[in-house]
Amino acid sequence: MAKRLYYGQHTITEEDIQAVVNVLRSNYLTQGPMVAEFEEAFANYIGSKYAVAVSNGTAALHLCAMALDVKPGDKVITTPITFAATANCVRYCGGEVVFADIDPETWLLDSKKVRLLLESSPKGTYKGIIPVDFTGRSVNLEEFRILANEYGLWIIEDACHAPGGYFWSNNNQKENCGNGNFADLAIFSFHPVKHIAAGEGGMITTNNKNLYDHLRNLRTHGIQQNPDLKIENHGVWYYEMQELGYNYRLTDMQAALGLSQLKRADKGLQRRIEIAKKYEKAFENADFVIRQPGFIDGHAYHLYAIEFKDRDKLINYLRDKNIFAQVHYIPTHLMPYYKQFGWKNGDLPNAENYYKNCLSIPIYPTLTNEEQDFVIETITNFYA
Ligand SMILES: *Cc1c(COP(=O)(O)O)cnc(C)c1O
Repeated sequence: MAKRLYYGQHTITEEDIQAVVNVLRSNYLTQGPMVAEFEEAFANYIGSKYAVAVSNGTAALHLCAMALDVKPGDKVITTPITFAATANCVRYCGGEVVFADIDPETWLLDSKKVRLLLESSPKGTYKGIIPVDFTGRSVNLEEFRILANEYGLWIIEDACHAPGGYFWSNNNQKENCGNGNFADLAIFSFHPVKHIAAGEGGMITTNNKNLYDHLRNLRTHGIQQNPDLKIENHGVWYYEMQELGYNYRLTDMQAALGLSQLKRADKGLQRRIEIAKKYEKAFENADFVIRQPGFIDGHAYHLYAIEFKDRDKLINYLRDKNIFAQVHYIPTHLMPYYKQFGWKNGDLPNAENYYKNCLSIPIYPTLTNEEQDFVIETITNFYA
């Protein structure tokens, strides 16, 4: 194939371009009316009460950790199979990251492993959990909420892979990823490879008004946004910095692009599901497949990861054929940065085993049927 096929790929339409150009012709460049509109539309889409737009997903995680008051020495549990930023937000605040293993079937943080950790330590040892809707498959947040309530923990849902994803709760309610019914805070990213691209960008969703207000202050230098909560007032010019915050604002150009892309999110999701179903069928009886997700209701299919035999050879073979599959992820606990805290090979066998076999193959709304057929054919030929 002459064209390179990546594991993921953004799409820009003429409408997207026009939306950004319109902002350039307006009076605002950085955070302004488009940001507010994007926040409202995003909260609507996800089904949360509030949304706070920030400069990227990593900034979103950082502000969440700050708003939940992570302090030096605080222990927080997360999964090793995620982008490093998920764990890093704890470190930004001086906290300690405790990785728990994944479920080998779902590849998600295993709530049973988390329970074991919690039960084997005095209450109060851990402060929070950060589960990840990895590949776009929703974690069962209800299970984590039960644990969190028992042990007095907060939850940040890393939903970067899962806008439009959902799970079914015990009482048969459809629970959208990031809707704030179980997690205290949820975060999303608008990096180009994600479902909704804004160049860079992030969003925090929540149903908690206090956290929402606090996050809005933290996003802009810790300056109090609510005039009623100012301690002093020197006059009309007066703004009041009450705590140490950051400049993590999203620009109106980015918000306009994100908003325009959000309008196509459901269409894109439908196409991803179609592609996933076709892969599932193509590989369901293949003896070279160790595990594939299969069709799962509520899966947002950000990635189509499969555990393959001979993964290392396959990835090189595919690159020769212009198929740029990728490994998601190198377990975070095995990054040199985290090894310095004592993490090592053998600590989390399910995650390490998954890492040996996994490969994310192309899935994105503009992948054509012919291109997908070529991917399937090339993989099948490699094993023939
Ligand atoms: C992309 C991603 C992030 C970080 O988002 P950025 O916008 O790139 O900072 C965090 N967690 C997960 C799971 C991601 O996929």
